[in-house]
Amino acid sequence: MLSDRIQKIGFSPTLKISAKASAMRAEGIDVINLSVGEPDFPTPDNIKSAGKKAIDDNFTKYTANDGILPLREAIAKKLKEENGLEYGTDEIIVSTGAKNCMYNLCMAVLDSGDEVIIPAPYWVSYPPMVNLAGGTPVVIQTREENGFRVTPDELSAAISPSTKVLILNNPCNPTGTGYSREELSKLAEIITEEGILVVSDEIYEKLVYDGFEFVSFASLGKKIKEQSVIINGVSKAYSMTGWRIGYAAGPRDYISAMSKVQSHNTSNASSVSQMAALEALTGPQHEISRMRSEFQIRRNYMIDRLRGIPGVSCYEPRGAFYLFPNISSYFKKEYEGMQIRNSYGMSYYLLKHAHVAVVPGEAFGSEGYIRMSYATSMKNIEEAMDRISSALSKLEPSRVAKAISLNNTVTVRKGAVETETHVGPEMRDALVAEAESHLTHQGYYEWNASIQGVIIQLRTNLPHLYDFWVENWYPARLETDLEPHGVIYAVGWIPGREPRAYYNSESRTAVFFKSAYYGQLRSLALGMADDIASRLSNTYSVRGLALDFDGKGFIMIAPRGTGKATFFANLLRHPKSKIVTDDVVFVRINNTAVADVPERKFYMQTNFVEEYPDFAPLFDKSKCENVITSRDECVNGPCQKLDNCRLDRGSPFCYEASPVSRAMLDPYWIGGPEKHTKRTDLKWIMLFKNDPISPVVKEASVEEAVRYCQEGLSQSGALRSEPFFNPHLLLSGSDRIDDRRRFYEQLFNICKPYFINVNAASKDEIQKRINELIGI
Ligand code: PMP
Repeated sequence: MLSDRIQKIGFSPTLKISAKASAMRAEGIDVINLSVGEPDFPTPDNIKSAGKKAIDDNFTKYTANDGILPLREAIAKKLKEENGLEYGTDEIIVSTGAKNCMYNLCMAVLDSGDEVIIPAPYWVSYPPMVNLAGGTPVVIQTREENGFRVTPDELSAAISPSTKVLILNNPCNPTGTGYSREELSKLAEIITEEGILVVSDEIYEKLVYDGFEFVSFASLGKKIKEQSVIINGVSKAYSMTGWRIGYAAGPRDYISAMSKVQSHNTSNASSVSQMAALEALTGPQHEISRMRSEFQIRRNYMIDRLRGIPGVSCYEPRGAFYLFPNISSYFKKEYEGMQIRNSYGMSYYLLKHAHVAVVPGEAFGSEGYIRMSYATSMKNIEEAMDRISSALSKLEPSRVAKAISLNNTVTVRKGAVETETHVGPEMRDALVAEAESHLTHQGYYEWNASIQGVIIQLRTNLPHLYDFWVENWYPARLETDLEPHGVIYAVGWIPGREPRAYYNSESRTAVFFKSAYYGQLRSLALGMADDIASRLSNTYSVRGLALDFDGKGFIMIAPRGTGKATFFANLLRHPKSKIVTDDVVFVRINNTAVADVPERKFYMQTNFVEEYPDFAPLFDKSKCENVITSRDECVNGPCQKLDNCRLDRGSPFCYEASPVSRAMLDPYWIGGPEKHTKRTDLKWIMLFKNDPISPVVKEASVEEAVRYCQEGLSQSGALRSEPFFNPHLLLSGSDRIDDRRRFYEQLFNICKPYFINVNAASKDEIQKRINELIGI
C-alpha cells in the first residue's frame, strides 16, 4: 500500500548507527561514537536565556508563517554584512531546520522527471528528498584527487534538458571540502548559461579552517543570485541542532512558493526557537571562534593519525567537522575468516571489534570511504584512533583458497505455478504433443528415476531441472527395456503459454510448462509416485520430519507456524538419532509401519542453518537453487540491519535470506552412515499444533488424529487446508481421500499419535516432553 516514492528511500543511516551505538552502550560496551552530525558543545547561555525568556513572555503561539520579522531582519543583516548579499525580508524564510528548508524547496520546484544534480559524496538526505518530491537525482561522482569538488567539465557532462537544479553543499558533509571563489565562479558560468537553479547549502559556513575564505554562491554576481537559493541555519554554528531553526534566502518567487508549502505542513518554526535564533544571530559571536579553533586542533590530530595508518588516505578538509578517509585498501582483507567487502562491512567491523561507530561511505554515495566526525572530545578521539589503528592492523590478507564459489542456480520462478489435475485424455494428448514438439534432440534430456519403486521418467529441455533430478533420485535399473510407470514433460520457454502444470492420473502423465523451479518438479514426482504406489502396492507418502532412535522411528507432522524445525534440529543433535527425512517418507503397513525414504539427496531449505549452523559447510559443497547472493535480492528485511546482514559483512551469499533457497544435500554428509537411515520402523507420530487451550502433550485417539490430519488446517493466520499436511498430493477426489483416511487409521493403530501443543509451554519444556515420549 505504500507509494513508489517511499519505497525508494530508507531511514537515515546516521540515525541507525547512532542508535546501534547507544544500544551497545546500554549493554555496557564502551562505544565511541564518531557518527554524530552535531557539535558536542552546549548551546551558549545567552541563547538559552533568550529561549527561556520567550516562554516567560508567553511567546508560545503560532508566528508568521515564514518566520518572525525581527529574525528575518537579522538574517537579512547577516547576509549583507557577512556575505555581501542584499535580500528583502520577503526573500527570506525561516523553517524547522535547514533540512526543512531543503525539503520545502524540493516540493516547491520539482515536477516528476525533473533532474537534480547532486555531487557525491553528498549529504545523505538530498537524494531521498528529491525522490520524495518526484524528481530524479543525478549523481556526479567527484574525485578524491580533486578534493571532492565537482569540476566544470563534470558539471557540464551531467546537465541534460531535464536538469532543473544543482545542489551544492559548501563546505561539504561528509568530505569537508570547500570551494574557493575561483572554483565557484567557473561553475557559476555554466549555471548562468544553462539557466538552472542552484541550491547552495551553506550550513557549515562558519566552521572553516586554515584561513579558508568562505564565499556564498549567490554573491558571485547579480545573475547568479537570481538563480540561487541559499540554505543556512543555526544548528551547527551555534550548537543548536535540537532547536530546529534554519533559513533560506533567494528570489521572491521561490521563497513564496516554499512558504506556501510550509503553510500547509509545519505552519511555522517553533516560536521559542525563533527567539533563541534571533539571539544567536544578533548576540555575541565569540563562541563560534572558540568552537572553530577546537575543531581545528581535533581535525589536525585525527588527520595525522589517519595518515599514519598504512593504506589509508585522507583528504584534508577545509570545513565542517568530518573526515572522509579512503579505507578501500582494506577491502578483501579478513578477520577470523570474515572478509571486509565494502564500507558497510568496514563500519560493522569497527563497531564490533574497535567499538567505534563510523558511517559507511556508501550512505553518502561513495563506496570505499567511511565518515568520521570529530565533534567529540579530544580524549575520545585519541582513544578511538588507537582502537581503529589496532583493529585495522589485525586485518589479514584473505586466504584465497578458502573462498567457496557457490554452485547455485537462480530460477526466474521461485514458487509453484498452478497445477491442473482435471485433464481428460484429449487434452492430455494435445499437451503431450505440444510438449514433444519443443523437445527436439538438441538440448533434450531424459532420465528414469526410481521413486519408492515407481519409475518416473523426466523428459525436459531445461538443464537445471535435469541436473537436480539426477541428483535427487535413485536411478531406475536397466533403463533401456524398462517401461516407466509415469512420465513428466518439463518444457521451458514457449511463447504465449501460461506457466502451468497438468496431471492426468489415468495415463500417469504430467506436463510442466515454463518453470525451471525444481521444487515443483520434485513435488509433481512425489505426487505421482504416491498416486501410483498407493494403488500398486498400498504404499502412501506421509509428509513430516522423521528421525530414528535405535531402530525406532517417529514422524513429526506439523502445520506451518509450529516451529517444528527447532525441535527437529535439537533431536538431530542427539548422539543416538539418525535422520530419516526432512520432508517425506513412503509408508507401508503390514504388522508394522515401515517408512522408507525415496530420495537419494535431500532438497533442503538452506535457512535450516538458522537452527543448525553446522549445515552451512554442507550446503557450501552442495548444488544449490535460489540462494541469495546480493543485498538487493534479499527479502528478509529484519537482518538487513547493519549489524546483522552477512552480505554486508563480506559473505558472498546468505543461506538465511530466502525461504525458497535450497540445497541438494547428501544426507550421508550430515554424520556419515551412522547418522542417516533410509528405513525405519515407525513407533510414534507427533502431531504438532498451536492452540491456546490444549495441554503440552496429549495422547490422541485414532479418530482425533485422523481428523486432524485429514483437515490439514494451517494454524497461523489464514486457515488454509492442506489435506494430510501434504502439499505433494495431486488428487483430492473423495475416493482418494477416503482411501488415504483408511491408511491413516491403520497407521495410527500401529503408531501412537500424540498432539504436541507448542503454545502450551516454553520451547525447552516442550523439548523435554518430546524427549520423554521417545525415551531419550
Ligand atoms: N545540510 C547539511 C549538509 C547537513 O549536514 C545538515 C545536518 N546534518 C543539514 C543540512 C540540516 O541541518 P538542520 O539541523 O538545520 O536541519
